[in-house]
Amino acid sequence: MDNKNYKFETSAIRTQAERTQYNEHSTPLFLTSSFVFDDSEQMRAVFADEEFKHSYSRYKNPNIDEFAEKMAILEGAEAGYAYASGMGAIFSTMMALLNGGDHIISCSSIYGATHVLFNNTLPRWNITTSFFDINHPETIEKLVLPTTKILYAESPTNPACDVIDLALLAEIAHKHNLIFIVDNCFATPYLQQPILLGADIVLHSATKLIDGQGRVLGGVVVGNQQLMNKIYLFSRGVGATLSPFNAWVLSKSLETLAIRVERQSENALKMAEYLEQNPNIERVMYPFLKSFPKYDLAKKQMKMGGNMIAFEIKGGLEKGKKFLNALKMCSMTSNLGDSRTIIVHPASTTHSKLSKEELSAGFITEGMVRVSVGLEHYQDIIDDIEQALQISL
Ligand SMILES: *Cc1c(COP(=O)(O)O)cnc(C)c1O
Repeated sequence: MDNKNYKFETSAIRTQAERTQYNEHSTPLFLTSSFVFDDSEQMRAVFADEEFKHSYSRYKNPNIDEFAEKMAILEGAEAGYAYASGMGAIFSTMMALLNGGDHIISCSSIYGATHVLFNNTLPRWNITTSFFDINHPETIEKLVLPTTKILYAESPTNPACDVIDLALLAEIAHKHNLIFIVDNCFATPYLQQPILLGADIVLHSATKLIDGQGRVLGGVVVGNQQLMNKIYLFSRGVGATLSPFNAWVLSKSLETLAIRVERQSENALKMAEYLEQNPNIERVMYPFLKSFPKYDLAKKQMKMGGNMIAFEIKGGLEKGKKFLNALKMCSMTSNLGDSRTIIVHPASTTHSKLSKEELSAGFITEGMVRVSVGLEHYQDIIDDIEQALQISL
């Protein structure tokens, strides 16, 4: 496609599928399930994987390729493949890389459905997971078994918005020959590029900040050519492929990723500072707040603090529920990374399938509220939160 030496913003805009005979400026939508072959010899060569030409959209499609290649460039990776959802991406990656009897080491603070996948689903194929406390990465090495294949982490974590030292994890993983996988959903490649810190694979729910406007589901996995070949060959056969339409939407979304995430991070920092001085708030977790316990690490591995904030209202669960019910503008919905500010209560929703012990291992308290700061004017967001706090007093 295009020059890989462009800066982030330029690559996000100028990585584009080859123009067709019409010389269109913007990539068209290739809604076709299959592509015709020139002759029987070409058809044979493509089916034999000797020639990589578009043949069938579960294998290759110009819109999907454009989105996946753009994500690979933005993450500093060699190749990528795109999926129907973030969970499709995570599940397919695990199944592509692991065999029955293999073992995963994961940080305990991860997305709720990933937790369910590791804890309840993968054990059906005898693939087990041990969890480590993100505040104690030195315990990881004690969890390594002869069957351990993958070290898995999220940073910032969902929903607690804590950060973990990705360069340190990469070092530990490689010392033990593990594949280090990072879910970079909260940061996006604009704020953090885990591959450059040593990660082998980066994956995303593209549904979140990558779409950025709450419209489509999608997922993507990027990494080096060798690992991606394995993941691609497995994934194209099992069918969690992204639709060309969603790929087209997501590729367009990437054109504005930098500017959106920058504004959302600015809004979030202003809001975190407001929350921190509010007497009704017990604790605020935001990586770029000076009071954040790992502020120096956050500054080292992230460009800005991102759009996600976790905070605790004084008065716990009851007060938290009253607060949510009093919001007038902010949306109560389970998505995140939207242009609209979204507020949820993880313990009763996104992480409700976790046990009390698992909740506490993920630092999820009953009174914790998670905010996905949007692109509205920050003063309107703060005003809505302020009035809801007043009503719920
Ligand atoms: C939403 C999310 C996922 C799952 O993605 P879907 O697109 O909903 O399948 C995975 N990881 C994180 C951190 C998420 O926020």
